[in-house]
Amino acid sequence: MEKQIFELTNSCTCANEDGSYTDDCFGCYEDDKSNVEYLLRDWATANNFDGDNQLVRIEGRGMTWQNRDGSTVIEYESIIDTLQINGDYRLTFTLDGENLTVSRGSHDEYGAFFKFTIVPRP
Ligand SMILES: [Zn+2]
Repeated sequence: MEKQIFELTNSCTCANEDGSYTDDCFGCYEDDKSNVEYLLRDWATANNFDGDNQLVRIEGRGMTWQNRDGSTVIEYESIIDTLQINGDYRLTFTLDGENLTVSRGSHDEYGAFFKFTIVPRP
């Protein structure tokens, strides 16, 4: 499988057809989000993910201005929500074969980094 990279940001990335800046948002967030949802689906497929019996573990490094590390176990459907923070951010999702990684840039972070593994549902 080819490497896929998609970005999701909550600041508007819309531009006019000639590339100039626009005040109007054409729905870039929803477009970017559906690209990311496709990427996550490919990741789930590549790993034979089974939502009835499995959950997703996220390991994060360099989070917030305190440079925190941590991990959490969530439902597959909550991946995007879990990575979002208040304020401006940019999430870069990279799917390389069956490995998913995400980096997050924001005002308070120099590049938080997340890894994902699939764990059995308890
Ligand atoms: Zn926009």
